[in-house]
Amino acid sequence: QAKREGRDRVSEFSVEQMRDLEDRLVMGNQLRDAIRRGELELHYQPQYRATDRRLTGFEALLRWNSGQLGQVPPGRFIPIAEALGLMPEIGEWVLDAACRQLRAWLDHGHRDFTVAVNMSAQQLQRPGLAAQVGAALQQHGVPAAMLDIEITESSFMENVWRVQRTLAELKALGLQLSLDDFGTGYSSLAYLKQFPIDKLKIDQSFVRELPADAADAAIVRTIIAVAHELHMHVAAEGVATQAQADFLAAAGCDELQGNHLGPALNVEQAGERFGVGRA
Ligand code: C2E
Ligand code: MG
Ligand code: MG
Ligand code: MG
Repeated sequence: QAKREGRDRVSEFSVEQMRDLEDRLVMGNQLRDAIRRGELELHYQPQYRATDRRLTGFEALLRWNSGQLGQVPPGRFIPIAEALGLMPEIGEWVLDAACRQLRAWLDHGHRDFTVAVNMSAQQLQRPGLAAQVGAALQQHGVPAAMLDIEITESSFMENVWRVQRTLAELKALGLQLSLDDFGTGYSSLAYLKQFPIDKLKIDQSFVRELPADAADAAIVRTIIAVAHELHMHVAAEGVATQAQADFLAAAGCDELQGNHLGPALNVEQAGERFGVGRA
């Protein structure tokens, strides 16, 4: 009996694994042509200053509207893109699209905002990234200070010296660097000293249970204190309730982002957020 159960469990597991593999293969094949087919799109999630809820900018978030698979969330397709080596090309598309949009908003007369672009660990490993970013800024006539590049701590796991040089080159362009998902994964306070980071983004896992969870409250207050001591800004992501926003603002968090203030919006909806003081 035990033997039979064991075998069933094994075969069940394999079926699931097979499906997963199949999904990945189909997704990979579709992803190869996504750019050419025009299936990629950037959505923009507003970011607000905590004190007065003034719009400070947007984070560009990649969306894949696959003709065959429908909407695929970035958490699913980006790891596959990375595994297939498609991320440099996709990343370049993202950078170009974000700079083009930034320019369009400038041309509409909007001022004093930033656009944040996410960069995967793999992108930071490739030499020539800063030159690519510099070229995109120049091509679209975008001031570097309006671009914010979000990196994660996982970028520091390999070839630290190369990442360090790339970040120094990016900073030399005059843009802003943010450390995304801060506090998860491979956090080390040494990174904060070693890399030219302007802003820490508190990971949403620490925000979710606020303000009730005492441990999360303590962690969030500590991250804010560390950031400020090191002359960095601090933002919270995944702010989903008024109580979270109030707690974070009272704790001195500089910026808020999350569904309570506004979800990721398409270009038209994002454009309408300018001048709207409060989400
Ligand atoms: P991230 O950079 O940490 O982006 C924040 C994620 O949290 C986004 O998910 C956003 O839609 C979601 N979010 C915002 N507010 C809330 C909220 O109140 N509650 C909850 N539960 N979630 C909220 P999304 O768009 O699915 O992106 C997931 C991740 O995919 C991003 O996490 C980022 O790591 C990656 N990603 C997205 N676009 C790009 C890109 O262009 N390039 C790269 N390399 N990675 C990207
Ligand atoms: Mg991000
Ligand atoms: Mg994040
Ligand atoms: Mg994330």
